[in-house]
Amino acid sequence: KSFKQVRRDQENRIYTSMAEINRIRNIGIIAHIDAGKTTTTERMLYYSGTIENPGEVHHGNTVMDYLEQERKRGITIRAATTSFKWRGLNADDFYQINLIDTPGHVDFTAEVERSLRVCDGAIGIFDAMQGVETQTETVWQQSNRFGIPRLGFINKLDRIGADIETTLDSVRNKLNSVPLLVNIPSGEDASFDGIVDLGTMRHYSYLDDLGKMVEVEDCDKDHFAYEKAMFYRDRLIEDLAEIDDTIADKYLEGEFISHIDINNSLRYCLRTKNSVALHCGSALKNRGIQPLLENVVNLLPSPQDTESISGSDVSTGQKIYRFSNPKDKLCAFAFKVVADPIRGLVTFFRVYSGTLKNRTKIMNSKTGRIEKITQLFRMTADEVTNIEELGVGDIGAITGVHNIRSGDTFIQEDDPERIQLSGVSIPPPVFF
Ligand code: GDP
Repeated sequence: KSFKQVRRDQENRIYTSMAEINRIRNIGIIAHIDAGKTTTTERMLYYSGTIENPGEVHHGNTVMDYLEQERKRGITIRAATTSFKWRGLNADDFYQINLIDTPGHVDFTAEVERSLRVCDGAIGIFDAMQGVETQTETVWQQSNRFGIPRLGFINKLDRIGADIETTLDSVRNKLNSVPLLVNIPSGEDASFDGIVDLGTMRHYSYLDDLGKMVEVEDCDKDHFAYEKAMFYRDRLIEDLAEIDDTIADKYLEGEFISHIDINNSLRYCLRTKNSVALHCGSALKNRGIQPLLENVVNLLPSPQDTESISGSDVSTGQKIYRFSNPKDKLCAFAFKVVADPIRGLVTFFRVYSGTLKNRTKIMNSKTGRIEKITQLFRMTADEVTNIEELGVGDIGAITGVHNIRSGDTFIQEDDPERIQLSGVSIPPPVFF
């Protein structure tokens, strides 16, 4: 067997097994057209080893480009989700990252709501030349309602004249959010070759154009980027101290503030203080993607952070809880239904409790109809991987279910408690 085949076998084994709940990250991507959503997603797939070369997944010709209409309108889209495994730069453990698209087009408002609902966190991608643009603003306001912690990626910093402050200002003014800059580029414009993490004061530099060879070193007193990094580090700590008493106390006492303190504070602020952790980079030039992914894992919540979810019984209206636990009864939420030219109706789900199993029967809690899953799968890059089970917190898709609307809740076929998840608007079916 070739190296490639062995790797593919290993990956398949990982993909087809159930992901551990605390290693799952369901992340929405929020971006204005042209900010770099496609390029950033491609680079994430590249660095995770899912695709061989950046740019392999082209615009408009992937399996994920289901929606012909959107293609005609020139809107780049990965129809619903892209899943990949991220091992981290230092860790041995795999994380299951599910990226969920939140189309920024005004026609899709209800769809965006349902997509955001299944996210535990989000990444806003900003064009450094433009800062926050209108579509981002709209989707961002929507995501406020779900209270999900967010990271930002200031993209295109390789462009002459691009600067960080434009985005920081517009995050403050247009999103009414506190911008917390967590890393900076170590070189400017075209010579931008590295990223300094302001918490750890580690410098990531890229030794080749593909950004595959990363050197991580301490950004200490002798390092060329030290002064600039210290300036921004002090600013980050001051910004955190304004909104987080724990940091404020340490700061006033003159105590050293470690990267662990900073990460703890960031996690707290992102969850409760309407703030966003901003990262620098250039997707096109392969800069800053790994540090962004590291913080997806470090700062954004796993589905385990949501202990339970509530809904109401369809017939009695009584409140029902389901726990983020494989032992609880099945509760799965259909957040998107698309017509695929090859597979027919494909329904994207998030499992909130229990386990969704291939070729089993499930009930649509609203209509009471029993449906049989003909195939359960995951979307990975431009491939479809069949799986046997989808565990708590995870996201996947099924075929075989008819008479479904996005926004429907699915339960075990024999469950007398017909839970319908609350706070979900039930819009007309999405048939293109
Ligand atoms: P999307 O519409 O948000 O999916 O944006 P794309 O990823 O398609 O990018 C839009 C355009 O910006 C394309 O021409 C990209 O090549 C370009 N682009 C994306 N990222 C960068 C970057 O980091 N630097 C520069 N200079 N161009 C970029």
